[in-house]
Amino acid sequence: MNFHEYQAKQLFADYGIAVPKGIVARSPEEAVAAAKAIPGDLWVVKAQIHAGGRGKAGGVKLARSFDEVRDYAKAMLGTKMATYQSAGIALPIDCVLISEGTDIANELYLSVLTDRASKTITFIACAEGGVEIEKVAEENPDAIKSLHVNYVQGLQPYQCRQMGFDLGLNAKQVGQLTKIMMGLYKLFNEKDLALVELNPLAILTNGDLAVLDGKINSDDNATFRHPDLAAMRDIRQEDETEVLASKYD
Ligand code: ADP
Ligand code: MG
Repeated sequence: MNFHEYQAKQLFADYGIAVPKGIVARSPEEAVAAAKAIPGDLWVVKAQIHAGGRGKAGGVKLARSFDEVRDYAKAMLGTKMATYQSAGIALPIDCVLISEGTDIANELYLSVLTDRASKTITFIACAEGGVEIEKVAEENPDAIKSLHVNYVQGLQPYQCRQMGFDLGLNAKQVGQLTKIMMGLYKLFNEKDLALVELNPLAILTNGDLAVLDGKINSDDNATFRHPDLAAMRDIRQEDETEVLASKYD
């Protein structure tokens, strides 16, 4: 089952992972009200669809005024969006996430998945995050760091620190990364997830790490154990993404 970015971020917050303040809006008016409730003078308007690649497709817009927030929300809501990750399918935009805009110094990539080859829960990270991680994997595979977790011992903080130093982070950022990874590991196990991806996990100009995007897939065979996750199902998009999944089979 697929989740929207706002749902992923809610789950992250439930597991003690700091996420930028964000509010979901289903109309341009709600979008403006959301921006008014979020301090600062820069907001991001993000189309909520079950596919990445929204930035390049016009589904992530930085707004510098309430009027811009309204205009971007209006342009997205009620339309359909195809991205390079949606296999040619245009997905309906029923809501947008209004979030605080941040000043980004650098974008990292971090994911957790079940690695079938090693039969372990594995973290994948890369200092060259941002939009197309697949390209980095092809052109510069050494930049991709992986960490296989021993299931009996569980994820250990020293392993997170090692990952942080491998990514070139400073001591404060390593502490933040450790908190994020420990939270993600617990979330992944307790909710029977199949994939969690933070792309980007940003380094802000003030030096802090920030979870700017979040993607979650859960294991469908375990949905019966998680009524809270089942309640997040977006039927309209689930139908479309089933078609999408069958295209990859
Ligand atoms: P997608 O992966 O679907 O393209 P993202 O949420 O990753 O969507 O956004 C695309 C890009 O937009 C990010 O790589 C980042 O550069 C920028 N971005 C996303 N969220 C914010 C934010 N809150 N503030 C500033 N820039 C952002
Ligand atoms: Mg992204």
